[in-house]
Amino acid sequence: MKKYRLILLGPPGAGKGTVAKKIAEKYQIPQISTGDIFREAAKSGSELGSRVKRIMESGELVPDDLTISLVKERLGKKDTERGFILDGFPRTIIQADSLSEITSIDAVINFNIPREEIIRRLSGRRICSQCGAIYHVTDFPPKVEGICDICGGKLYQRDDDKIESIEKRLNVYEKQTLPLIEYYRTKGILYDIDSSVNPDYSMEQIGKILS
Ligand SMILES: [Zn+2]
Repeated sequence: MKKYRLILLGPPGAGKGTVAKKIAEKYQIPQISTGDIFREAAKSGSELGSRVKRIMESGELVPDDLTISLVKERLGKKDTERGFILDGFPRTIIQADSLSEITSIDAVINFNIPREEIIRRLSGRRICSQCGAIYHVTDFPPKVEGICDICGGKLYQRDDDKIESIEKRLNVYEKQTLPLIEYYRTKGILYDIDSSVNPDYSMEQIGKILS
């Protein structure tokens, strides 16, 4: 049986979340993020879980050894038989090395998109203050500027979507991820895609890589 054990790497605004959902559906494999793993563990009441819960409640970062134990536990579940999509993990070379002791990885998909396009996508985002609906000033504008089509609520821009904040997030991402890109490129399993067009085009490229 062919397996799809995948890692997705991509900056905020690259459409990674949407594409991950499409991959999960097409290849029938679970999308695994450390955020979900932490929340599930905290709910489970296991010993590891209660450690995670205490750390999250204190607002600290979950340490590497604990994260890796939880990822290992998750990857041992039956729904990963055909593979999985790791999103947001690994973040560091240390994590990547530990992961390689747990499982093989078939492909690392690296989402490429120009900085200006990310800024355009994220800075144009507007959110309804009442129902949470998401708009975009040029790509998906409401019928009346600044007003939600669904509930008539006022639209606003999240602080995270302001240009200075986007720049900051991109700098953090690049600093953190460049070493990982090189790490997986050296191993010969890194595949670059152009994610500046739309999710369908990203899927088309990923389909070719995985076939
Ligand atoms: Zn609304």
